[in-house]
Amino acid sequence: MPVLKIVNCMNSVLRKKCLKVENIDAALVALADNMIETMYSASGLGLAANQVGVSSDLFVIDVGIDKEKRDPVIIINPIITASEDKIMAEEGCLSIPEVFAEVKRSQRVEVKGYDLKGNELRYEADGFLARAFQHEMDHLNGVLFWDNLSKVKRDILQRKFKKKLKAIES
Ligand SMILES: [Zn+2]
Repeated sequence: MPVLKIVNCMNSVLRKKCLKVENIDAALVALADNMIETMYSASGLGLAANQVGVSSDLFVIDVGIDKEKRDPVIIINPIITASEDKIMAEEGCLSIPEVFAEVKRSQRVEVKGYDLKGNELRYEADGFLARAFQHEMDHLNGVLFWDNLSKVKRDILQRKFKKKLKAIES
């Protein structure tokens, strides 16, 4: 399975709402497999399709996050159906390397969607996994984690990111 290129936050594909998946075909299954490979290769715990440049409504997430055991799950056309209790915790993003910030998220969520066979999925998550679900859902809606912060904080982080990008490119 090839590792795909992860686009960074300067890429406009991350700003567009992803299109609902209508057909689960061989290409989508291959994309999902490659996304799992790419996520682990980047030491990530979640990856949305638009992060590899595909504007389709699916993400992969490691639901074994709290057990330290790999358990990747693909969720197609996901929706958050319930959420409660907001808390602050540090968050990062594979598309904004080396930038971290405290973001307010729900402590518990219920997520529904479909697997690669078209079967309905439902997850209840709390803590870090709940946070990861919300982060990936945001991606599919064209939202980046720093959009949840004040403009001042976001500007600081964006400057920090652009500096790092320059250092990488030069
Ligand atoms: Zn992200």
